[in-house]
Amino acid sequence: MERKETRQFKTEVQQLMNLIVNSLYSHSEIFLRELISNSSDALDKLRFKAQTDPAVMGDDTDLHIRLEADKEKRTLTIRDNGIGMTYDEVNENIGTIAQSGTAAFVAAMEEAKKKEGLSPELIGQFGVGFYSAFIVAEKVELVTRAAGDAKAVRWESTGDGSYTIEETEKDSRGTTITLFLKKTEEEDDDYTDEWTLRRIVKQHSDFVNYPVIMNVEKTEYLKDEEIIKDADGKPIGDTFRKSRVDETLNSMKAIWARDKDEVTDAEHEEFYKHLSHDWNPPMERLHLKFEGTTEYTALLYIPSKAPFDMFYKDRKNGMHLYCKRVFIMDDCKELMPEYLGFISGVVDAPDLNLNVSREILQQNRLVTNIRKNLVKKVFDLFSAMDMEKYDQFFGEFGQAIKSGIPMDYENTEKLSHLVRYKTTKSEGKLVSLKDYIERMKDGQEFIYYITGENLTALMNSPHLEALKEKDYEVLLMTDPVDEWVVQNLTEYEKKKLKSAEKGDLDLNTVDDSKKEEYAKLFDFIKGKLDETVKEVKPSTRLKNSVSCLAGDDYAMSAYMEKIMKASGQDVPKQKRVLELNVDHPLMSKMKALFETDTKNMKLDDYCTLLLDMAIIGEGGKIDDPSRFSQIVGDLMAQVIS
Ligand code: ADP
Repeated sequence: MERKETRQFKTEVQQLMNLIVNSLYSHSEIFLRELISNSSDALDKLRFKAQTDPAVMGDDTDLHIRLEADKEKRTLTIRDNGIGMTYDEVNENIGTIAQSGTAAFVAAMEEAKKKEGLSPELIGQFGVGFYSAFIVAEKVELVTRAAGDAKAVRWESTGDGSYTIEETEKDSRGTTITLFLKKTEEEDDDYTDEWTLRRIVKQHSDFVNYPVIMNVEKTEYLKDEEIIKDADGKPIGDTFRKSRVDETLNSMKAIWARDKDEVTDAEHEEFYKHLSHDWNPPMERLHLKFEGTTEYTALLYIPSKAPFDMFYKDRKNGMHLYCKRVFIMDDCKELMPEYLGFISGVVDAPDLNLNVSREILQQNRLVTNIRKNLVKKVFDLFSAMDMEKYDQFFGEFGQAIKSGIPMDYENTEKLSHLVRYKTTKSEGKLVSLKDYIERMKDGQEFIYYITGENLTALMNSPHLEALKEKDYEVLLMTDPVDEWVVQNLTEYEKKKLKSAEKGDLDLNTVDDSKKEEYAKLFDFIKGKLDETVKEVKPSTRLKNSVSCLAGDDYAMSAYMEKIMKASGQDVPKQKRVLELNVDHPLMSKMKALFETDTKNMKLDDYCTLLLDMAIIGEGGKIDDPSRFSQIVGDLMAQVIS
């Protein structure tokens, strides 16, 4: 029994398709780039597979992409003899989206569309791929035969909710996509017109590694002796001859293999789009040729925008590996550390074996060397950016750079030069650790920082009061990843990093007599708050506020605790130290009350309030907010006459 089914597109696929069609109609010609790109990938895969399994290539060795236009029928066909797809692969690849986070992304797009209309830049981040066919076609038919299979598959859809898929016959390997074009008034958009197609291929797909062939009519002017003439020498027959010939529309020159100065910005842009599926032009590029004992070429692009799925686990690494211009693999994690996976690029290493496997790559000395070198060059590039550009870069990729610190021990120092933070004194600007050190006050020993979720809350945190009084600058760290940064980056240029909310800040001392004076009250408070508080002591941190919570030098910060809880991890209850400001008038009053009226019913409430105020001051959540409001309400009622 032959298989035949009608299936519904997954909801997010249909949504994405509608978004693409509605937002990209003014860029409709990109559909051709996307389909040629898919064909080129399919040819790459075939060629690579044939290295170890020559049977998949068979006699059909002339790898190419062919365009066929029919003006009458208004169809455009893109044909390749690449790896093709099986029945199941068609269902998997065309009709679902494998990329994780798609549903969330599509939802975000729908939101953006409602607010400000959808810009191609946004949708472009996604890589519109096959579905872009529906920008120009009212119906798409795909017939494909996988290498090594006898049966072929026919897929058809009008892009409107469902598609049909069935088994069929096809006499050769590969994929043929036929677009039944929508009606159009504009001449530019006539995708059956030879010159329009020539222009688009040249502009968007010139570097594609396989010939993009079109059968065209050629006019050849006859040589003089070929022309039939009358007695006066005037031609009686045609002076030209028309014939049909196959023509290759693209130059097929691999961008990276060309001379650096010869490649234009526009060509780089197109190639980058092909590699990354990112619509926006890259922010920077590196075109490197290494010669000597090991020879290889690398072409790297830094995107201008962080991809929406930068931190998704199954996101592909942006590196592609080639050997003498033959594609070996994409997603080549061996060439670039995970945290720099946002970089798109190509490495062409002629010394590699063509049928090298991932397992071999991991232990390959040449590959390890290449990676090391590339990382170094990339760091040099980042360091050489001017401030404005670097700030822009860091705004997009700062999180990725910072996440390198706990991952890449070899480069901790280099990475430490690259991180930037806002500070208590930077007025919203980003500051490097070098800048910070240069601005340190006389006598200041440490680089102070504080971590937390909210910049304003950190800026006004009670933990910083004494530091502010000394006019010391404090780094404000608001990224979850910063918690891992400070665990791994303990010093910078011999200056230790110190948390403003942990341990002793060594800024001031409390008189022994004061300590003595408050000892009993503090014991009492400790007794009341025993479950949450480890110790109660006079603070050297506070100036205006009454209370704050502090951790030990090695304790988990409040922010870290919050992050762990939010990610569903079991965090053992952290007891912290309640620090009280003995110079605050409240403390002397509380002491007096405690000494004269130990049975006072309100003392318990006041102890809880001291703790609640400390938690609220650092932007935390208190256990019993309604009780807090009641007590404060009662207190206000007493005070206001
Ligand atoms: P992308 O190319 O970004 O993966 P597409 O939607 O364009 O997304 O294509 C989805 C998948 O369909 C491809 O990854 C590939 O596996 C398959 N595919 C598309 N076009 C072809 C083709 N011409 N030959 C073989 N497989 C193809």
